[in-house]
Amino acid sequence: SMASPALLMRVVASAYSVAEKAATIVRNVMSAGDLGIVEKAGPNDLQTKADRLVQMSICASLARKFPKVTIIGEEELSTDDVTEELIEDGHCEEILKKPCPAQYTGIKEEELVIWVDPLDGTKEYTEGLLDHVTVLIGIAYGGKAIAGVINQPYYNYEAGANAVLGRTIWGVLGIGAFGFQLTEAPAGKHIVVTTRSHSNALVNECISALNPDTVIRVGGAGNKIIQLIEGKASAYVFASPGCKKWDTCAPEAILHAVGGKITDIRGNSFQYNKEVKHMNSAGVLATLRNYDYYASRIPNNVKQSLVP
Ligand code: AMP
Ligand code: MG
Ligand code: MG
Repeated sequence: SMASPALLMRVVASAYSVAEKAATIVRNVMSAGDLGIVEKAGPNDLQTKADRLVQMSICASLARKFPKVTIIGEEELSTDDVTEELIEDGHCEEILKKPCPAQYTGIKEEELVIWVDPLDGTKEYTEGLLDHVTVLIGIAYGGKAIAGVINQPYYNYEAGANAVLGRTIWGVLGIGAFGFQLTEAPAGKHIVVTTRSHSNALVNECISALNPDTVIRVGGAGNKIIQLIEGKASAYVFASPGCKKWDTCAPEAILHAVGGKITDIRGNSFQYNKEVKHMNSAGVLATLRNYDYYASRIPNNVKQSLVP
């Protein structure tokens, strides 16, 4: 008989279904109309009822199936009394059919860390920029982001009633990434994508120094990585603290699975072991191709202003 699938593939297959349930919650909270907005650090750091319910749904669902895995979610909420209706126990069969890369077949539950951003792009969600929103489930092993799921609950929401609403992108290092059409940005053009709601003087100074042809300002770390892998932008540049490990883990795994690169603004790779500091204090620089072109043009004073 067939050997049972490797733990990593079972976790990714479950995360896929858990992220689809999360997307349904995100859409249901919006259509019910009461977002229950709470300010965390301030007016640019919000939490809604959707952030809270999805955090509980993802963390409780994955913890029930994989009790020894470390799960770190953005929202500080107890999952002790989560209602059954928030639990997802399904998985994606297609993912289980893929062979696990040899270097990951022996991974044990205790060795995995799952970084969860239940709703990335909350500010934009509250402002009706719905396709900026993503649900991020990143899976780390040995301090590295090795697999990830990005669900975009409102993909196609302006494409008309016949279009399928929402999509799930997933990827594993050594297997690739699926659920979208990998596309390179136009050759010879420098299209920078950056924050829409967390700009400051350093963020803008850094972008100006790159002499971009176009600057796209959109919300969400997940959304900006989607812009890179679908050829809408050539570099994601954010010279500021603010982005956290749960923002970058799933996007990093998917970007790296298709040959891209993400680091902080100084070129250091991110670590995802459970003890690591949550804040990506030295910002973000990511590309699908031509990473060195952008890295070599980040001004030294910008690098020195950001301490990892
Ligand atoms: P953005 O590109 O502004 O949408 O940011 C990407 C992710 O980092 C989102 O989850 C933001 O909430 C988070 N983030 C970035 N900058 C800040 C900040 N100054 N304060 C709080 N969260 C931030
Ligand atoms: Mg986020
Ligand atoms: Mg969030």
